[in-house]
Amino acid sequence: MPDEELPFDKLHEECGVFAVYGHSEAANLAHLGLHALQHRGQESAGIASSDGKLIYTFKSMGHVADIFTASVLNGLPGYMAIGHTRYSTAGDSSVLNAQPFSVSCNKGRIAVAHNGNITNAAELRSELEDHGAIFQASSDSEVILHLVAHSNQRTLAEALREALMLLDGAFSLVVVAGDSIIVARDPHGFRPLAIGRMNTAKGPVYVFASETCAFDLIDAHYIGDVEPGEMVIAGPNGLTREFYTLPDRPAQCVFEHVYFSRPDSIVFGVPVQQSRELMGRLLSEELPIQADVIVPIPDSGVAAALGYSHASGIPFAHGLIRNHYVGRTFIEPSQAIRDFGVRLKLNPVREILAGKSVILVDDSLVRGTTSQKIVRMVRNAGAREVHLRISCPPTISPCFYGVDTPTKRELIAANQTVDEIRQFIDCDTLAYLSLDKLSMAVRDTNAESHFCYACYTGKYPTELVNIEELMTSRPNRC
Ligand code: SF4
Repeated sequence: MPDEELPFDKLHEECGVFAVYGHSEAANLAHLGLHALQHRGQESAGIASSDGKLIYTFKSMGHVADIFTASVLNGLPGYMAIGHTRYSTAGDSSVLNAQPFSVSCNKGRIAVAHNGNITNAAELRSELEDHGAIFQASSDSEVILHLVAHSNQRTLAEALREALMLLDGAFSLVVVAGDSIIVARDPHGFRPLAIGRMNTAKGPVYVFASETCAFDLIDAHYIGDVEPGEMVIAGPNGLTREFYTLPDRPAQCVFEHVYFSRPDSIVFGVPVQQSRELMGRLLSEELPIQADVIVPIPDSGVAAALGYSHASGIPFAHGLIRNHYVGRTFIEPSQAIRDFGVRLKLNPVREILAGKSVILVDDSLVRGTTSQKIVRMVRNAGAREVHLRISCPPTISPCFYGVDTPTKRELIAANQTVDEIRQFIDCDTLAYLSLDKLSMAVRDTNAESHFCYACYTGKYPTELVNIEELMTSRPNRC
């Protein structure tokens, strides 16, 4: 599960989406769903509700709990709603980019929120601007609204179908369109989008979310996923499903299982806790070593550390304690404050670490700077040996499908060997989970892979124009 603050050295998810159709308290349900998806974005959040005639939108910077007061929710009536949590990249942190986006056009009223990164957004935007479109934000989600508004199709659903066909890249989309909720996933299915159902006295209520943990909170049950290339409409005729395009080679983001998603979610049909524990079990086979204790780097390393401990028989202990209440104060400070920031966030338990040979388990290693500080912290707490184990392969390439990654130049594994990284981090041994074992852990065992592993292989599942330029910049996503 993502850390919400820098300076922790993690990739960041960009967004979480939620939608509900057929409940008189739709905005309240969306509010609860967004609480469960807060880990997918802490910069801003928003809800758009509708009674089938008007769309009511409220969005703001900050956390869900701070944005949606009782009076704000009272101003969001209707039987359907969509919601969004957003994490922004540097430079685009503004309420203008908060979602959902909402407009009224010649086909009716429409509001949209999305998770992902539309890789041809800049080209589409420039074409739309040539035809008179005026953009208010830098987010690529706004492009979708303009495509719908400029479409010659008669209805919102037809115009949306046409717009989806023009998009490249990754998108899991939730839309309020007229009297319906429409959701869709890109043909590769990069980002997750689950379907849930609540049974009420007044009939079924349909819900959609980036992760199933959002269903648990509202007593909805998971009935499956929106398929790659599929568009699902919840409306007066119940639930209708259709493929707006042929599915492409599946490329589900494996990093959802490695790190992003909550362990209590089912993502791409697989429980995340199970896949992470299996990563830990398999990791114990990569470079077997005798040690006194397995210590997870909290919170995201916990499930893999448990699996490692079960497989190896080495006891598990919480030798590092995380402070959950550190704010974003430490973004972009001086180096001295950054060091302080890591110590503020994690504290060693000397009684567990002193005199021991310790295996530290983490889910990923991006720049290596935080790992170096954590190893030093564990040594200073008296550990005799420190062995670092990472429950995924070395991260060597940036992501262009909705995940905030540093540039290739900043990724330590893109530029150094495993032994050079070990020396930099100053641990006794370092090992990563191999790609084959990661595939096993997420049950990707068919002849044709269903996952994207591009940040570990550099092999991108879609064609990327201007790849050299992309490698040195950080795109503005979702
Ligand atoms: S490049 Fe990595 S983070 Fe991006 S979609 Fe693929 S697996 Fe996920």
